[in-house]
Amino acid sequence: MIQILPVLPTIDEHHVDRRRYPDGVAFMDGQYLPMSQAKISVLDWGFLHSDATYDTVHVWNGRFFRLDLHLDRFFGGVERLRMKLPYDRKKITSILNDCVALSDHRSAYVEMICTRGSSPTFSRDPRQAENRFMAFAVPFGSVANKEQLERGLHVAISDTVRIPPKSIDPAIKNYHWLDLVKGLFDAYDAGAETALIVDTNGYIAEGPGFNVFVVKDGSLRTPAFGVLPGITRRTVFDLCAEIGLSATAADISRAEIKGAEEVFITSTAGGIMPVTRVDDTEIANGHVGSVTRRLMDLYWHKHDEPAWSTAVIYP
Ligand code: PLP
Repeated sequence: MIQILPVLPTIDEHHVDRRRYPDGVAFMDGQYLPMSQAKISVLDWGFLHSDATYDTVHVWNGRFFRLDLHLDRFFGGVERLRMKLPYDRKKITSILNDCVALSDHRSAYVEMICTRGSSPTFSRDPRQAENRFMAFAVPFGSVANKEQLERGLHVAISDTVRIPPKSIDPAIKNYHWLDLVKGLFDAYDAGAETALIVDTNGYIAEGPGFNVFVVKDGSLRTPAFGVLPGITRRTVFDLCAEIGLSATAADISRAEIKGAEEVFITSTAGGIMPVTRVDDTEIANGHVGSVTRRLMDLYWHKHDEPAWSTAVIYP
């Protein structure tokens, strides 16, 4: 006979939590917590339905990079998903600051999340859900490691199609990543280090956590359709405007990316990162190109400039 236990079972004394958590501080339900204690309910629709939006900003040498742009994108996503944040922009800014300051990281990866939450009556109506805000700061991480940044990443193009913008608006930064994860496995199977997946028309879209650029005849191009409008992508446009390079958003075919003079990817997790191989094709004879190098240098220089960055207030 199945017994219904009247009380919660005691915790399995033999169970040891072997998970490793990054060093950092999270904010949840009005509290700051070490990462190992930052947990959500299994009933949260953010987890059950991927009904959530988020944003990630980084801190470099004690300064947030382009925080206002990240907050704009986050608040835009929350509004489009018809969620309500329990805090205003000023309070969220101070929570993000506190997560970094309490963790004492000088370089950090800082994430803010709003989930649908769940309904107190278990109603299936999303309008009745109580939305939740959480945030955390962990050490800075990059799509590319040191060696890959020096020699360029090896990328494979997967046939996997990125979720169409008519299904999910890519401007709402989201966790619909099954296509990107499948692309990654395809890339690993092909002996590459990361993936690019395609849009519904077969053009190059984006990769797991990054946008892509090609350089041809000295001009830059990045896909326009079905991709997250990345803040690093936007930063590349701003840097190009500053130094007089032409940059446009338009379709890129498989043949065009392989015929490019230079290729690089962009993400808050790593900045501007060179690509020197696409499938079996070497880009720029396998060397990091001069336009990519120049933009990488400029990008990191901007991190100290007050017009592009905000100091973290440490205690
Ligand atoms: N594309 C996707 C799907 C992403 O998840 C991300 C970042 O996480 C990017 C592109 C790059 O955006 P950003 O430069 O704002 O980090």
